[in-house]
Formats: sequence, C-alpha cells, structure tokens
Amino acid sequence: MGKRTKADELNCSGCGYDNCREYAVALLDGKAEREMCISQMRKEAQNQASVLLRKMPYGVVLVDENLRIVDTNAKFIDFGGEEITMISDALGGLAGADLRKIVSFHKYFAAVLASGEETSEFDIREDKRNLKLSIISIRPNKLVCGIIQNMDDSHLMKEIISEKIREVIKQNAESVQRIAYILGESASFTESVLNTVIDPDKK
Ligand code: SF4
Repeated sequence: MGKRTKADELNCSGCGYDNCREYAVALLDGKAEREMCISQMRKEAQNQASVLLRKMPYGVVLVDENLRIVDTNAKFIDFGGEEITMISDALGGLAGADLRKIVSFHKYFAAVLASGEETSEFDIREDKRNLKLSIISIRPNKLVCGIIQNMDDSHLMKEIISEKIREVIKQNAESVQRIAYILGESASFTESVLNTVIDPDKK
C-alpha cells in the first residue's frame, strides 16, 4: 500500500479506521479494500495524471493565483527557449517558478485568474511564431491550466498527434475518472477538457 516508513503512516482516518495499522490489519483479514486508503489513491491518481500530462502533444502548464508554476510538461518548457530549458534541466522542472520570468504571454494567465472565466482563447504572435493559447480555470481565481499550440506546426503532424492522444484518452478512461477525482470535477467535465487538447475548437 505504499507505506514503507513511519512517515508514510498519515493516520488521517480517511479509510474509516483510526490509523494506518488498524487499516492494514483489516486489509489482511479481507475486511477492507485497497481503494479505501484515500492517501494512496490520491498518490496513484496524481501519478497517472502526471503521465497523461507528459504525453500531451501541446505545451501544458498549471499556474496558481500568484502566477507560480505548479506543473508543466516538457513541451511547455520548450516554449520558454533554450535558457529556460537549461534552468529546468538543472532544477528538475519549473515547479514554483514565476511564470512572468518564463514566458512573455503571462498577462493572459493573470487576466483569467482575475476574471475566473471558465475557458478563454488567445491568438498570440511572438518571435515569428503563431501561438494559440487556451486557458481553463480548474479552480476559478486559484488555479488555471494553459494549453499552448504552435500553429505553425504542419496540419498533418497535428492530425497524427491528435489521433495518438485520442487513443491515450480512450485507453485511460480510468485515469480520466481519477483526474476528475483530484480536481473535484465530474469525469465528463474532465474528459471534455482533455478533448479540448485534441480539438481546441471544440468546447
Ligand atoms: S486513509 Fe490511508 S493514510 Fe489515512 S489512515 Fe487510512 S490507511 Fe492511513
């Protein structure tokens, strides 16, 4: 159950037992089920959500109310350029970094965080690139998810990548449920968000 050290024993009672040891005994006796440990289920769901995030063909970034990066995929880091990629490599990611120092289009994130708008689309022209930015409020005014596409990518590549990601979502129906669980949203809402990644024009 992922509890190897004393520190792993949170004793939060989320499973309905007073502590992790009582739960472990019940589990061994066949009186409890592994899905009852909230902390372990959350950890597994986060791992699966993280894998899904990394497979996305577009840049994806989660940003909090202070414009601090919560998580990104590698594709997003590419948008920051060579220097940001080197910093990310050195630090093992960009979690905690100030978005204003990473990308020039941070003002759109600030605007959506301020408004709490559910979904917003922006066309951005910078460094001779045409970018499409979709920002989705995960927790209005608190946490947003930005999806960035380079519109200069060939149409054919987009089709191929979209097909691949459709397959990933299909094969990960359970992950969708779990992401929904983490985000506190319904699975259908979460699936529609993921489908927006495949087809940004579909809302
Ligand atoms: S939910 Fe998990 S972490 Fe919390 S007391 Fe039960 S077994 Fe321990």
